[in-house]
This record gives sequence, C-alpha cells and structure tokens, in this order.
Amino acid sequence: MYQDLFYQHNWDEVKASIYAKTAHDVERALGKEKRNLEDFKALISPAAAPYLEQMAQLSHQLTKKRFGNTIQMYTPMYLSNECQNICTYCGFSLDNKVRRRTLSDEEIIREAEAIRAMGFEHILLVTGEANRTVGVKYIKNAIKLMKPYFSHISMEVQPMDQDEYEELIEAGLNTVLVYQETYHKDDYKKHHPKGKKSNFDYRVDTPDRLGKAGIHKIGVGVLIGLEDWRTDSFFTALHLDYLERTYWQTKYSISFPRLRPFSGGLEPKVEMNDRELVQLICAYRLFDEEVELSLSTREHPIFRDNIIKLGITSASAGSKTNPGGYVVEPESLEQFEISDERSAEEFAEMVKSQGYEVVWKDWDLALQ
Ligand code: SF4
Repeated sequence: MYQDLFYQHNWDEVKASIYAKTAHDVERALGKEKRNLEDFKALISPAAAPYLEQMAQLSHQLTKKRFGNTIQMYTPMYLSNECQNICTYCGFSLDNKVRRRTLSDEEIIREAEAIRAMGFEHILLVTGEANRTVGVKYIKNAIKLMKPYFSHISMEVQPMDQDEYEELIEAGLNTVLVYQETYHKDDYKKHHPKGKKSNFDYRVDTPDRLGKAGIHKIGVGVLIGLEDWRTDSFFTALHLDYLERTYWQTKYSISFPRLRPFSGGLEPKVEMNDRELVQLICAYRLFDEEVELSLSTREHPIFRDNIIKLGITSASAGSKTNPGGYVVEPESLEQFEISDERSAEEFAEMVKSQGYEVVWKDWDLALQ
C-alpha cells in the first residue's frame, strides 16, 4: 500500500531538499531523457523558475508526441450537495448552513440530456460524502441512468472499499478521481476535523483499492493552497510513480486545483501564482510522458487559453458546480465559484483556433 512508502518520507526533509535544489540540478534534469523523482524536485523548485521557457517547450514537444494535438473534453454533473464531513475549504461542508439537495432519477436524466446536448460524451459525477443519501446504491443507480448518454463515466465521490468499486465498475464506471487534498498529515487533520474523510490513511490508500479493483483510470492530486505546493506535488508524484509501477494496466491523470472562493470561504495558506502553476504542469509532463494532465474551470480564461499547448490533455468546460445546475435548479448553492464561465462551445472554438482537435469521446476506451 502507498502508505508504507509514504511513511518512509519526512515532510520537512522533503521540503528542505526541494528548496536546496540548484540551477545545476535543474539543468541536469532538463538534459535527461528519462527523469526520476529527484529531477522532479529540481523542476518544481524555485531554482527552476528562470528555466520556465525551456521547460514549456520540452513539455509541449513531449505532449504532442504522446497525445497529438488533442484536448479531451468533459464536464461535471453534481448529483448532491449532502455531506457528513467538515472540510474547511468547501461550500458543501456539514457546518455550512445551506439547503441540501439530491437529484432524483428524473432530474438526473434531465441534466444528462442537457449535458449531452452540449456535445459531451465524458461525464464526471460528483457528490458530497453522505453514505445514507448518496452511498453505493445511489451512485450505482446514477451510473446506470448515465450509460445511455455517455461513453465515459468518471466519478468524484467518497472513497470506498475495493468490493464496492468492483460493483460500480461492473455497472459501467470507468474512472475515479480521489484527491488527497494535502499529504501534510497534521494539516490534513486540521482541514478535516469531522467525518469519515478525517481518516488520512484510508484516503491515502484509496488508489490502491481502485487499482486492485481493476479500474480503467485513477485521478490523483492535491488542493493547492492548503500547504506548500512544491512538497505536496512531490508526494503526488511519488504516489503516481508508485501506482504506475504497481497497477501498470491502469491509466492515470493529475489535476492541480487551486483553492477558489466559496460560500463561507477559507483563504489559501499558500498562494501559487500563474507562472508557478505553469512550472508545475510542465514538471509533471517532463517527469511522466504518459500521464493525463487535466485542467478545470477553476482557472481563469486567459490562463486556460495560454496553457492549452503546454502539456494539458483534458479540460472541463461549461461547468456547473451545483446539483441540478444545468437545467433542474440553476440557482442552488455551488461548491466553489468557477472562473472560466464560457460555454463548452466557446471553449471548444478557442481550442480549435490554436490548431488543436477537440475530443468529446474517449476513443481509447471505446475501442477496447
Ligand atoms: S470536500 Fe467533499 S467531503 Fe469535504 S465538505 Fe466538500 S463535498 Fe464534503
């Protein structure tokens, strides 16, 4: 399990070693064909900042070689904002006094029809973590309702046991996103004081349970802004490296969400500027040519337009982060404010204007 490897590393020592990297370390990493975790540390270090242009060019070339000029499109469907956890950074947190809403079968179908009409074939189902209302049974039913509309079904819901994942894969689930939020264990406890999510070890081993269940794709990452992003990103890369070696038949994706304003909001402890996010995206690509890199509508339009060619392989668009947000109840409370409010069509036009093909369907999976 990843936790065995994780506990062999000390946060403060990892952090110190990243900040001790020099220009020489960065140049050595850039000159290599295959980069290791020490090279990744150099590429995310402050010493790599002057090399951003070179990193961006390399990242562009590697991405083009492996993925061509394509951007895969997906959008989230929020099924419920019920949640039994307290998370300091989320609008759905149990202690946030908002009206709770869980979509019925008929409402799920109305949302699915609206999203399908926008062109999407890849859907990301999202719920809060509330076992009684949106447990395995509810999600399995939602997956079955989705099947006629979408060729790829992802979900971002509560972590589950291996046999539960097996049941959902059988029902048609293709991908699970499970972000660790932060790998800083003490800070993790502060941000998750109540509910099942406060169990750090159960969450950190979730990708293992998914790998064992035989899922097609796993998404990992952290919420940038909770802790030092360089150290958290190292632990993400360590996790990815471990998973790729252990569950080599599974595909992987990484996201790098930055903390966004929401109702009842938490200020980021650590700010990451746009240049640093570009540096991180390029570093992931230089470290791993195969991994999908995914960008959400949390980022502002200018940033999204400029990052398309630098390593990203999938993007959400036209997103609503509230249950029923597309047609059923557009005014219900959102999980966080999105930054890029353009429609899916507008975003797709922008991607095409950069010479890229917009891929609505996950062809890989369709051909399996
Ligand atoms: S981040 Fe997830 S688990 Fe935490 S409050 Fe929000 S919906 Fe619930």
